[in-house]
Amino acid sequence: MSKQKQLNSTDIIIQVADAKKNYGQTHALRGANLTIKKGEVLAIMGPSGSGKSTLLHAMAGIDTLTSGHVHYNNTDISKLSDKRRTELRRTDFGFVFQFSQLVPELTALDNVAVPLLLNKYSKAEAYRLAENWLHRMGISKSQMNHLSSRLSGGQVQRVAIARAMIIQPKILFADEPTGSLDSLNSEMVMKLFIETARENNTTVVMVTHEPSIAAYADREVIVRDGQVTGE
Ligand code: ADP
Repeated sequence: MSKQKQLNSTDIIIQVADAKKNYGQTHALRGANLTIKKGEVLAIMGPSGSGKSTLLHAMAGIDTLTSGHVHYNNTDISKLSDKRRTELRRTDFGFVFQFSQLVPELTALDNVAVPLLLNKYSKAEAYRLAENWLHRMGISKSQMNHLSSRLSGGQVQRVAIARAMIIQPKILFADEPTGSLDSLNSEMVMKLFIETARENNTTVVMVTHEPSIAAYADREVIVRDGQVTGE
C-alpha cells in the first residue's frame, strides 16, 4: 500500500525496488532499493565491483534486471519493449561516461547535433542549438569544427555534456564523468556540468568513487555487495 502511495507521488522520478541482476554466477545486484527525487543531484559511491554501474544501467534502461523493478515516473521500464526503452533513452535520458563515445570522424558540432537530428529536428535548428550548447560549455567556434578525435580530454567531456544536455533530458546519467581527467580539469568540468543541470532542473544520477566529485551532489548513497546500503 505504502509503495503505491510513493509511486503516485509527483516528486519521485526514479524508484528502484528489489533489483537483482545476475551475470552467470555473479550476483551484481542483490535486492537494491533506491528512490530519486525530481531535480535531485545524486552521487552513487562504493567500492569497485559493488554494482554501481549495473544499477545505473538498469535505471537508464540500458540493461534489464534479472528480477525487481525500475519505475521512471509511473512507468515500469522493466516491462517496456526494447523499442520503447530505446525511444525513452533518446527523448528523456542523457548520458555522460568516463570515456565519452563521441564519433571520432565527426566534428564536435556534428556530434552534438546528432541527438536532435535523431529526434527529427530540422538540420538548421539542430545545428543552431548545438552551437549554443557548445558555446555554453566553453568550446570556441574553431574548436567546434575540429574532429572530435583532435580534442583534448577536457574538451571531449565538455562536448559530451553538450551532447547529453541538448535534448534537455529529464535525467542525466553519468558514470565517472571526469574519471579520465586530471584534478583541475575534472573540477572545471564538474562545476559546469552541475551548474548546467541545476539551471535546467535536470535530475543527475552519477557514479563516482571520488569524494571530491560526490561533494557536488545533494545526496550520496553507497552501494555495497549489490545493495544500496546507506547515505
Ligand atoms: P562497479 O560499477 O561498482 O565497479 P559493476 O556494476 O560494474 O560494479 O559490477 C558488479 C559486478 O558484476 C562485478 O563483479 C562485475 O565483474 C560484474 N559484471 C558487471 N558487468 C558484467 C558483465 N557484462 N558480464 C559479467 N559480469 C559483469
